[in-house]
Amino acid sequence: MSPLRVAVVGSGPAGFYAAGALLSADVPVQVDMFERLPTPWGLVRLGVAPDHPKLKTVSKAFERIADRPGFRLLGNVEVGRDITPEDLARLYDAVVYAVGAQTDRRLGIPGEDLPGSWPATEFVAWYNGHPDYQDLVFDLNVERAIVIGVGNVALDVARMLALTPEELAPTDTCDAAIAAIGGASIKEIVVVGRRGPAQAAFTTPELAELGDLAGADVIVDAADLEGAESTDTNSERNLEVLREFAAREPSGKPKRLVLKFFHSPVAILGERRVESIELVRNVLDENNRAVPTEDRSMLSCGLVFRSVGYRGVALPGVPFDERAGVIANEGGRVGPGLYVAGWIKRGPTGVIGTNKKDATETVELLLEDLRDAPRKGVTADDVDALLDERDVRRVVYAGWLAIDEAERSAGEPLGRPRVKLCTWDALLAAAEGLHSSA
Ligand code: NAP
Repeated sequence: MSPLRVAVVGSGPAGFYAAGALLSADVPVQVDMFERLPTPWGLVRLGVAPDHPKLKTVSKAFERIADRPGFRLLGNVEVGRDITPEDLARLYDAVVYAVGAQTDRRLGIPGEDLPGSWPATEFVAWYNGHPDYQDLVFDLNVERAIVIGVGNVALDVARMLALTPEELAPTDTCDAAIAAIGGASIKEIVVVGRRGPAQAAFTTPELAELGDLAGADVIVDAADLEGAESTDTNSERNLEVLREFAAREPSGKPKRLVLKFFHSPVAILGERRVESIELVRNVLDENNRAVPTEDRSMLSCGLVFRSVGYRGVALPGVPFDERAGVIANEGGRVGPGLYVAGWIKRGPTGVIGTNKKDATETVELLLEDLRDAPRKGVTADDVDALLDERDVRRVVYAGWLAIDEAERSAGEPLGRPRVKLCTWDALLAAAEGLHSSA
């Protein structure tokens, strides 16, 4: 029987783990991976904080998958613009959407859209060199920045704001962000959790790291920890670290990174841009939910980063679970020939490795459905013909390797892992071998 041809949409961890599972199947499979950017790896390249290079080494596993026979990267091809979901359904035996959660959750409070109030996701995309976010201007010349939410993204943002030029220098943070963060006048970063320290979503290694920052003292109010009862092992370890932080005397580092619990934002205020935030004190009910009290307070600030989670975006014509923000699915199966993996399947939770089990589960169902089914008989050449007809300038894996090489060789003399190319033009030129300055 001819190979099963599968389109995987999205080249982040879920997409690559799905491709890996497909290419290990007991029947021949060909995978075309569609990616709208000229670069693969999704949030491993554009989400993981640049001062966490070890987390990025997972891309080595993805490189091995990309090297396997039957794999093709079709970068710079946007599903919905260059090729439609209907085209994919016609051209492939199956389609796996692994498109992540492409927007951020809203707070739903007045002032949320004032200049100076940002979704954390945009700041993250900017400092990581995402080509769609380089025109954003983050004015970091403020005294105090607020980060709403106590997940790992909130800690990434708070930590990045606190890094010294020396800490930033050996990273692949984009140059504009190195300059802006290194020259920022921020004195205090306040991370605000609506519930208690035992309910915080961040994980212990990420929390503990805050205690070792060169340029910022971490501040925790011991009163927030009184009576805190852990809910699981992570929470127990977090509490230990937080108690240690609360017992510290600030050592007079130039910045303060404050972890504040039991407060929700009520409004973000300012004439033309963010000047302050109004918070309300919460108590916990018997189900550990935050319940507001009458106790309100104001905190002056020039920046607010809203880090309260990501949210999936619906695909036209595909049933969407609005409450969970995911494509409605059962174990990754959506409908005939249509599957999902990763955050668009289960919601924006878990670490990179969580996607391996998740994607494998999807692929097992896909193979159960299609292993013995008749093939559509459409070939890679048919897909190329359609993309050629539409003049789609795609970046195949060799093009990414050329970008990778240009970035790494620019980083080497500077002792940095890479200097990222941050514009579409530079990325496409490098992919086509036209980049000369690196
Ligand atoms: P997250 O872990 O779901 O955290 C979201 C935070 O926002 C929670 O503290 C949540 O509090 C809070 N929140 C939600 N709605 C709120 C509201 N209306 N007002 C105030 N606070 C609100 O999400 P994330 O930080 O975006 O991370 C996404 C996933 O990526 C997570 O699984 C995370 O671990 C992972 N990640 C991992 C790393 C790493 O391993 N280093 C780095 C970055 C991200 P409640 O609990 O009260 O809802």
